[in-house]
Amino acid sequence: MKDSCVVLETWTHHCALCHKEWEHTYEAWHVDNGCGRSAVTWRDHGHLVPAPWSDPACPACSSPARAVTAR
Ligand SMILES: [Zn+2]
Repeated sequence: MKDSCVVLETWTHHCALCHKEWEHTYEAWHVDNGCGRSAVTWRDHGHLVPAPWSDPACPACSSPARAVTAR
């Protein structure tokens, strides 16, 4: 039996090009990998999404957003 838990994390993204700022809430799925460590997969409403720090596209201008902080 593996342990898993889901933690909601809200990240703030900032676009360096158009300076739009937006927040996105990710589900961080922590799953025990059996070696005493936990692996994290990122999901949005159950769907796999890229990690929040992997330069998500800006919803305003579609350029990759850079500065990302967790709240
Ligand atoms: Zn932008």
